[in-house]
Amino acid sequence: ILVQPPRRIRALAQDVVNKIAAGEIIVAPVHALKELIENSVDAGATMLEILVKEGGLKLLQITDNGHGINRDDLPVLCERFTTSKLKAFEDLTSIGTYGFRGEALASISHIAHLTVATRTKDSSCAWRASYADGKMAAPKAGQSAEPKACAGRIGTQITVEDLFYNIPNRRRAFRSASEEYAKILDLVGRYAIHCTNVAFSCKKHGDSTPGISVPEKANTLDRIRHVHGSSVANELIPLEISDDRWGFKAELWASNANYSVKKTTFLLFINHRAVESSAIKKAVDSLYSTFLPKGGHPFVYLSLEIEPQRVDVNVHPTKREVNFLNEEEIIGVITNEIRENLGKVDTSRTFMTQT
Ligand code: ADP
Ligand code: MG
Repeated sequence: ILVQPPRRIRALAQDVVNKIAAGEIIVAPVHALKELIENSVDAGATMLEILVKEGGLKLLQITDNGHGINRDDLPVLCERFTTSKLKAFEDLTSIGTYGFRGEALASISHIAHLTVATRTKDSSCAWRASYADGKMAAPKAGQSAEPKACAGRIGTQITVEDLFYNIPNRRRAFRSASEEYAKILDLVGRYAIHCTNVAFSCKKHGDSTPGISVPEKANTLDRIRHVHGSSVANELIPLEISDDRWGFKAELWASNANYSVKKTTFLLFINHRAVESSAIKKAVDSLYSTFLPKGGHPFVYLSLEIEPQRVDVNVHPTKREVNFLNEEEIIGVITNEIRENLGKVDTSRTFMTQT
C-alpha cells in the first residue's frame, strides 16, 4: 500500500483565524444583535431602538442613549480582546456586565460592514468611524479612516450592514428573512421584559409600527403584556424565591392552570443573561402537564440570580449556555414552588364557583 507522507502543519493566517472565530460566535443575525443589545445595556442605556432590514442580513442598527465611547478609544474599539469591562481573569467570577471578552465588535467587523457613531457627555459633537477586519477603515475609497466629527445625541449608534458578505456559503444558507426577523423579535422581547428601566423598540425597515415597543417605566407585568399580550398577562402568578442553601434567588411569572397554549414560552435569564436550559424547561413542562389539558403548555418567565462564584459564564462562545452548581436542587425548589401555587389557584377557583 502506498502511504502518503503527512502534510506539514502550519499556522493559519490571522485573518482566516479571525473569520473562523467570528463565524463561531455569530451564526445568525440574532447573535450579533444580542451582543449589541448587551453592550447598550452595559453602557447604562435607558433607551434602545433597533432597526432591521432583511432579517438583519442587510441591516442591523441599534441606537442607545448610554454613556458613549471616547473618541480616543475608537481606533481600538474593534480589535479582538479590547474591553473596558474585564481586567483580570479572576474578575470573571464577579462580572457585573454582559460583555467581558472584547470579542463581539471585533467579530462583527470581520464578517460585516460596521459603522459606529457615538458621543459622550463631555464631547461637543459625535464621532463616526467605520471598521473592516478589526481596524478602522475608510467608509469609501479615497476617504480617510480617521473618525469624523458629526452631529448626534449622547449615546451610541452601531450599524451593521451586509452580514456574512465574505462568507457566501453562510449567507446563502439563510432562506427566509422573516424567519430571522422572528428570531430577532423573540430575543428583543426577552430583553424588553427583563430589562426594567429600559425602553425598547424594534422595527422592520418599511413597517410603520414597531414589532416591539416597551416604554421605559413599564413594570415586568406591563412588559409581558406589551410583548405577549393580555391573554397571557392576565393569567400570571408572580413568585419570588430565595434560597440560602443553594445560593440563589428567583423571580418568576408563571401562567396559572387556566392558561394553556400549544407551545411553551419559556423566558430564562440566569444572572441577567438570556440563556437556554433544556433541563429547566423539561422540568417545568412536565410539572405543568399534570395541571393542563393534554397538549397544553404554559408561559414562564424565570429570572434566576445565582451567586457568581457558583456560575461559569464562559463555557460557550456565544454565552448561550451557562453552567452552575446544584442545578438539580435549584430546579427542584423552583418547580415545587410553582406546583404549590398552581394548586392554590385551582382550589380558589373551585371555591369561587361553589359560592
Ligand atoms: P465587551 O462587551 O466584551 O467589552 P465588545 O466587543 O462587545 O466587548 O465591546 C468592546 C468595548 O466597546 C466595550 O468594552 C465598551 O467599552 C465599548 N462599547 C461597545 N458598545 C458600546 C455601546 N453601545 N456604548 C458604549 N460603549 C460600547
Ligand atoms: Mg459586548
